[in-house]
Amino acid sequence: MSHPVLDKLGLAAIESGSYIGNGEWSKTTDAGVLEPVNPTTGEVLGKVHASSKADYDTLMERAEANFKVWRKTPAPKRGEAIRLCADALRKHKDALGSLVALEMGKSKPEGDGEVQEMIDIGEFAVGLSRQLYGLTMHSERPGHRMYEQWHPIGIVGVISAFNFPVAVWAWNSFIAAVCGDITVWKPSPKTPLSAIASMKICNEALREGGFPDIFFLFNDAGTELAQEFVDDKRVALVSFTGSTKVGRTVGERVARRMGRSLLELGGNNAIIVDETADLKLAIPAIVFGAVGTCGQRCTSTRRLIVHESVYDDVLSKLIAAYGQVEGKIGDPTDPKNLVGPLNSSDAVDAFLDAIAQAKAAGGKIEIGGTAVEGKGFFVKPAIVTGLTNEADVVQHETFAPILYVMKYSDIDQAIDMQNAVPQGLSSSIFTTNLKRAEAFLAAWGSDCGIANVNIGTSGAEIGGAFGGEKETGGGRESGSDAWKAYMRRQTNTINYSDALPLAQGIKFDL
Ligand code: NAD
Repeated sequence: MSHPVLDKLGLAAIESGSYIGNGEWSKTTDAGVLEPVNPTTGEVLGKVHASSKADYDTLMERAEANFKVWRKTPAPKRGEAIRLCADALRKHKDALGSLVALEMGKSKPEGDGEVQEMIDIGEFAVGLSRQLYGLTMHSERPGHRMYEQWHPIGIVGVISAFNFPVAVWAWNSFIAAVCGDITVWKPSPKTPLSAIASMKICNEALREGGFPDIFFLFNDAGTELAQEFVDDKRVALVSFTGSTKVGRTVGERVARRMGRSLLELGGNNAIIVDETADLKLAIPAIVFGAVGTCGQRCTSTRRLIVHESVYDDVLSKLIAAYGQVEGKIGDPTDPKNLVGPLNSSDAVDAFLDAIAQAKAAGGKIEIGGTAVEGKGFFVKPAIVTGLTNEADVVQHETFAPILYVMKYSDIDQAIDMQNAVPQGLSSSIFTTNLKRAEAFLAAWGSDCGIANVNIGTSGAEIGGAFGGEKETGGGRESGSDAWKAYMRRQTNTINYSDALPLAQGIKFDL
């Protein structure tokens, strides 16, 4: 078993899934084997030896030891290490992008785009390495100086989802690295090869640059090691990306040991289209948001809330667009196709199950909603009408291309509908009315972590902080000041006077 894309990256037919430091990949062969599947064909793409408990112990000990060195390395020097990683990724962008596309089942431009995101966050991190600013404050006591500084937090544990198999790791680990932390990564069992390739590229660049190991990797055959990882007091921050179901238990377990968690969980993202919307913008944004990546982005558009006066027009335009899309479902590495497969046969079952639930609740399937016969995990994206926002199936995230289209008559009602779900990741409004756009962005508007005007819900730039509220978990990653999650804040007061005044004027005369 070999594939030209794996060959290009120097990956063997069976790879070790554990990078344990000191340039060593574990030789463990008896902890289980992961078999990532190419979702386009249903065939096993490669094999990966899972990590043993001994591998985990070794890499955690080395991670702890390396933290002691890395935290003393000046932050701009740490930035230099990440610059080398970004350069190496640029060199391997085509091959790594192809592997991501192949293993996850996304299009080649999306696979390349994911690697570009790694490069971009790397460059962002390099700049950030000179900007880890704290504030200075005016002390209430004479001859005193007060300021705050940000110190590295320790080991950052990254547990990632299958749908962004490499970018999420880079968002976390590159920022964590310039902050002075060491990252240990447990990727999705569905995409271990993309993880191994990313680690090889970055770790080789670090070694050539004379830097210590700051990135470690393990792959779990089940969830036993992952749970131990979550409970491990040595992991100062657990950054978890995945479903709300698993994220909830991860958050609870980390909280129990008073650790920190950063949760990036499911979304149930809506677009509002008002009667003034420019449909030339809205229609392609809705279609890309709902069917792009076969509905497997956390920011995919799942609900559409349309003003009653333009509802029929919007719906007929969408059905026509979906009709065109149906002719372009297939191998995502073929540039003529717009929609690739779901990632697994379980995901196809979940899609069909949601369609059955929608029908049972009185929904009408306007188009799509079936599996495509033949190899791979392909489905026809669905538009569903006739359900209320409260319907059970509408309230849940089905990680597949299903769009629930609903009507509204008044903008306050539309915003209430948009907010009335348990999740709070991404949202948008299409309008040319300034007052409505601003109302949507106001404190009483969208309750999501991301709120856009005249742009769809899906996809985000690395410069902003990414994440969402409520059952999306509240975490923020990537740009803006998201780096603060990877550091600990220390407030310092220095007395350079000859007296010892106490705060709040308290007297304590000895
Ligand atoms: P998942 O929850 O099934 O798995 C995520 C990760 O958790 C995997 O690495 C998995 O092996 C691990 N895991 C499973 N059980 C565990 C346990 N008991 N303890 C510790 N780790 C465990 O999610 P998925 O199917 O890979 O990804 C799809 C989900 O991820 C969707 O809900 C999507 O919305 C969400 N997602 C969110 C974001 C975001 O930024 N908000 C980004 C991407 C994906």
